[in-house]
Amino acid sequence: MNTATLTVNQRTYNTPGTPTVIVCIDGCEQEYINQAVQAGHAPFFARLSQGGTVLSGDCVMPSFTNPNNLSIVTGAPPSVHGICGNYFFDPEQNAEVLMNDARYLRAPTILAQLAKAGGKVAVVTAKDKLRSLLGHGLQGICFSAEKADQATLVDNGIEDVLAKVGLPLPSVYSADLSEFVFAAGVMLLRTERPDLMYLSTTDYVQHKFAPGTEGANSFYAMMDRYLQELDRLGAVIGITADHGMNAKSDALGKPNIVFLQDLLDRTAGPGKARVLLPITDPYVVHHGALGSYATVYVSNPADIPAIQQQLRRIPEVEDVLDRASAAARFELPPDRIGDLVVLSHRLSVLGTSSSQHDLSGLTVPLRSHGGLSEQRVPLLFNRVLTDVPQRRLRNFDVIDLALNHTA
Ligand SMILES: [Zn+2]
Repeated sequence: MNTATLTVNQRTYNTPGTPTVIVCIDGCEQEYINQAVQAGHAPFFARLSQGGTVLSGDCVMPSFTNPNNLSIVTGAPPSVHGICGNYFFDPEQNAEVLMNDARYLRAPTILAQLAKAGGKVAVVTAKDKLRSLLGHGLQGICFSAEKADQATLVDNGIEDVLAKVGLPLPSVYSADLSEFVFAAGVMLLRTERPDLMYLSTTDYVQHKFAPGTEGANSFYAMMDRYLQELDRLGAVIGITADHGMNAKSDALGKPNIVFLQDLLDRTAGPGKARVLLPITDPYVVHHGALGSYATVYVSNPADIPAIQQQLRRIPEVEDVLDRASAAARFELPPDRIGDLVVLSHRLSVLGTSSSQHDLSGLTVPLRSHGGLSEQRVPLLFNRVLTDVPQRRLRNFDVIDLALNHTA
């Protein structure tokens, strides 16, 4: 590398002297690791209390996948990088638009900047939807497990991925999708030894299985095996999550859903307000596009205070913030969040209209995220950190902690 430090989005990073692997375990409520450790399934995680560092931090709101993955790789909140969900309402197009495209990204990633400075960088994601955002402007290796069979040297910086990893192409709805990410990470560390590698899994397992269950423990045991291997190969490892995960059901396992669009159509009148769920994405089978965060676009600005008051009276609703308050409190881009931001309590989720949600794919009680109750996530390192900042830590401090606070 041709520089000792690198400044990206007003934060300065030491360039890695040792290969550094940053892992984002999608939907990793801390209790998953705790339970797997207690049951003896996770010796790597268990050892972190001695030779490593165990911290926790807050993810960005909304506690969704894309905003947090982008925060982690930019070291900055959504007000800086611009990605605050999968969807937003674009007044220019007068339509709900998908925010998965890199043209919505407003800040460079640490990954791309390190590669520009001569560093070797590799990114492996589970789902392909994140690949173009994470790989924006990146000269290096970047591919998804989902489309590993289609990776080419020109587009992804690597080819023959299936043969190199030694696993078949995984199904997009499976634990195997995340296993492929780790197996690819071990292969890349062995063969390419990137200076910085970012591995991002999918929360398919966490949406289905509660902490401590067989399905969850075997998933964490799998990750633990690969982490041991990355550790043995000499990498500095920093682990965090994009968000936590909670049960969103009543005592009998029926989802607690507030259908906001139905409610507003009934009370304020049809056409007065449009509810948009930024969790909606092309892969909704496991959560039915239901999370604890919603945005509301109000047709007539004069109606905003009354609708805010009305939403606040719903027992399942934890808070309703207007645009300016939400942007300030959660460091969100005001032009992409709607007139109101609605948060539900830990056990509840927010929907639009009951007719818009297909719950037939929910074969187990709903588990989801999006709210304040899924904000706390692990920050774990296989090294002893020095001079950890004495302030509120965030998941997007993980690269700073791994590069600037390891000996
Ligand atoms: Zn996620």
